Amino acid sequence: VKNREYSARRRLLAADLAGQELGGMLVSSTANIRYLSGFTGSNALLLVLDGQTVLLTDPRYRIQAAEETDCKVGVAEGPLVGALAKVIRRRKLRLGFEKTRITFEAWQALKESLPPGISLAPVAGLVEDRRLVKSEEEVERMRRSAITNSRALAQTVHRIRPGIRESDLAAELEYRMRRLGAQKPAFDTIIASGARSALPHAHPTSKTLSNNELVLIDMGASLDGYASDMTRMVFLGRPGPKIRRLYDAVLEAQLAALAAVREGVMAEAVDRAARKVLRTAGLEKAVVHSTGHGLGLEIHEPPRLGRRERTLLRAGMAITVEPGVYLQGFGGIRIEDTVVVTGNGCEVLTPTSKELIVL
Ligand code: ZN
Ligand code: ZN
Repeated sequence: VKNREYSARRRLLAADLAGQELGGMLVSSTANIRYLSGFTGSNALLLVLDGQTVLLTDPRYRIQAAEETDCKVGVAEGPLVGALAKVIRRRKLRLGFEKTRITFEAWQALKESLPPGISLAPVAGLVEDRRLVKSEEEVERMRRSAITNSRALAQTVHRIRPGIRESDLAAELEYRMRRLGAQKPAFDTIIASGARSALPHAHPTSKTLSNNELVLIDMGASLDGYASDMTRMVFLGRPGPKIRRLYDAVLEAQLAALAAVREGVMAEAVDRAARKVLRTAGLEKAVVHSTGHGLGLEIHEPPRLGRRERTLLRAGMAITVEPGVYLQGFGGIRIEDTVVVTGNGCEVLTPTSKELIVL
């Protein structure tokens, strides 16, 4: 991303702030700071004022900040809020802060250290709303992230066999991802075998894979800051009719949901399309989560593709489509792709085949 793009993003935010009668905004979410400045460190505050932006960080990031951002950089030895107070000492303004991104303790420190001319106003979702629609360059990063993620799975499939531990399979996938250019997994890889696959967000354990078991693999890469997210299913042995029937129902639901994705459609309509298929298959009670979520710099971003979610999909939004069914004591099946909304449908970024992987 060019510096020009970051400053354009800050100008748009400044316009949003003016519309809300805010003189500036204190950004504390690392993802939002990265989006607005390019800085990738873990400890920073970004003060966006009309016509000026200051990035405050600590001495560990002095060199990195100068390299990554063209914002004015302030390096503070002590707490960042103390440095912030100095920067806006002589100003009088209403300063927005990210109410969902700050701890109570940090808010207290902020309140106590700010000069009397500054009043704090809680805001939510301002930068996140700007991040909803991805630029062509962001989509390209997500495309590469999804390809890398799929390659990591393809390079690992031959090692999936009875006797290997869930945790070793997760480690192998994450190792492959990094070897292929990802900076890290976008989230902790989920490997759940046998009855454990009924836990939608299971952590891999030392349980070994066995014959005649389902294995749920949910993995994502973080590449150049952008996340991908994919779930695929493996069966070790010959899947019986119940597995086949469940798998076909989930696949049909996933295809129906993908077919519903288009600019101008409400997020809830995509969720409804998946649920309708699963209800017809008699699996309504086995559905325990919504059909998808936005993603980008973070693995979970708006919009949520769930019931009563009235966000209108727009071209350039990146979302997952991931219906699943979960039967306690038996197992679960989920199929998940990362996609980008387009004017007349969507582009599926995940290149891996959606067939049940039978080994
Ligand atoms: Zn996932
Ligand atoms: Zn997901």
